[in-house]
Amino acid sequence: MMEAILREGLSALSLPTEGIPALTRYAGLLAEKNQVMNLTAITDPAGVARLHFLDSAALLALADLRGKRVVDVGTGAGFPGLPLKILEPSIRLTLLDAQRKRVDFLREVCEELGLEDVECVHSRAEDFAGSHREGFDLAVSRAVAALPVLAELSLPLVKAGGKFLAMKSVDSNEELSAAGRAVNLLGGRLEKPIDYVISGTDIPRRLVIITKITETQKKYPRTFAKIKKNPL
Ligand code: SAM
Repeated sequence: MMEAILREGLSALSLPTEGIPALTRYAGLLAEKNQVMNLTAITDPAGVARLHFLDSAALLALADLRGKRVVDVGTGAGFPGLPLKILEPSIRLTLLDAQRKRVDFLREVCEELGLEDVECVHSRAEDFAGSHREGFDLAVSRAVAALPVLAELSLPLVKAGGKFLAMKSVDSNEELSAAGRAVNLLGGRLEKPIDYVISGTDIPRRLVIITKITETQKKYPRTFAKIKKNPL
């Protein structure tokens, strides 16, 4: 069933379907590991196919990720980064998460699937920025924090000319307005968001696009305590 949903959903996005066996294997590993640790609340195969894999895949239809250095900030069980890599193998991917067990799981999946050019990093984004500022063409992120906070965690990692793609719900107007000041201070520019539906469903989603215009000042990101207490 998962295979049929993926085939239909990916075809509707005009994306190649060669990655389906790897996605199915990934779903198996996710289900297995989810028995012993909390990786995802979505456990039915159709839900995983639509709400994790096809939602992630939508980015490939909305942005050009080919050959790019991409960091997934707060990737959790690998979303959106791993499906992107499986479906577009030319991506040079860094999966970043603050929870060690999740990063260990991601390493297992990458090894099992024989994925190359994927780095799984256990770190908080604000610490990782110390050694990797302006190091990526693209940052992507889903379900990690409100946009003013998320922008400070992610934008310092993106080089000028690159983009930060934040996957949000369509109810994010308030968050978007609140993020304008933070985005400017961090050297970015908010573009017009793109609303879409997850392929094969009527579930609406929004891609927030931030273009990195100038280098982020060295004083950002601040410590998480400061970011949280006093968002930009
Ligand atoms: N992006 C995944 C998804 O959409 O399924 C996971 C979302 S989960 C709700 C949020 C993840 O962000 C958690 O795994 C958490 O450890 C990670 N996270 C939160 N703050 C972070 C930070 N400052 N740096 C790195 N990871 C962070």
